[in-house]
Amino acid sequence: RLIAPQEQDSQESVIDRAMRPKMLTDYTGQKEARGQLEIFIAAARNRGEALDHTLIFGPPGLGKTTLANIIANEMDASIKSTSGPVLEKAGDLAAMLTNLEANDVLFIDEIHRLSPAVEEILYSAMEDYQLDIMIGEGPAARSIKLDLPPFTLIGATTRAGALTSPLRARFGIPLRLEFYNVADLTTIVTRSAAVLNLNIDEQGAVEVARRSRGTPRIANRLLRRVRDFAEVKYEGEINAKVAEEALGVLDVDSEGFDFLDRKLLMSIIDKFGGGPVGLDNLAAAIGEEKETIEDVIEPFLIQQGFIQRTHRGRVATDKTYLHFGLSKAE
Ligand code: ADP
Repeated sequence: RLIAPQEQDSQESVIDRAMRPKMLTDYTGQKEARGQLEIFIAAARNRGEALDHTLIFGPPGLGKTTLANIIANEMDASIKSTSGPVLEKAGDLAAMLTNLEANDVLFIDEIHRLSPAVEEILYSAMEDYQLDIMIGEGPAARSIKLDLPPFTLIGATTRAGALTSPLRARFGIPLRLEFYNVADLTTIVTRSAAVLNLNIDEQGAVEVARRSRGTPRIANRLLRRVRDFAEVKYEGEINAKVAEEALGVLDVDSEGFDFLDRKLLMSIIDKFGGGPVGLDNLAAAIGEEKETIEDVIEPFLIQQGFIQRTHRGRVATDKTYLHFGLSKAE
């Protein structure tokens, strides 16, 4: 039976929700961020105070939203979620702020995309728990001040560098999420497989983990696709061979690179003689937004040593040539 895209999405989001860890102890990896949070949460709870405002940064799919929800759970607080682009007017943010109860969490995803007018409101809200807002226009306009309950703002961003410094300065707890290693991703895949009731062995889980670009969201997505494959062809049993075959069909290569990764790497080699090439040229060559390259594609390739960023632009490394079985033109 064909499934309509929306139907499939909603089914996937149900699964996603089930796979999402709820408490800090289930949050795999990210030892540093987790260790810090354990202490800050315990201290805030002992004092009966709201946790300090927290900024979480890292590439998409590493667990920023998950961590925000976990913080709220650990603080026994409710969480209200929104995102930078959704908060168009100062009033949108004011409505969310005035709905908070003491020690609640307000989560703003993509916080680097707040409009300046909205960001301005956030300053006094964060600093003094005060809402300072103009209502009305022209001669009838007046400013009102409201006291807010103490709350925790959690901001998530893929690019810490894009935050204005006054906003960044108002976060007491900055947390940087790192790409996950294979061992941690294997744990995540195994846990998700248990939630989905899958029949997967250790090597099968490792194979999915190895090819997930260090990213839990990708690991869970690949696992679901491998499951489809295994159910149709191998009576639901997932081992390394089945995973490898399925991932090959999905066009995910031995390094976990997908079509876009390869397109980017090959274009540096083919069109720009291995680099250096500037971001603008690269974006034009592969027909992607600069932001997509910087936020989504490139961080993992750099972390894995397949691209180097120099002051003159991006350069393909020896590893890249080796990966494609090419030799460097001298
Ligand atoms: P982000 O907000 O950074 O884009 P999410 O929090 O939405 O990422 O995480 C993506 C998916 O990865 C979630 O569905 C969650 O199940 C899973 N996930 C993320 N981090 C972890 C983790 N540390 N342990 C287990 N699963 C995780």
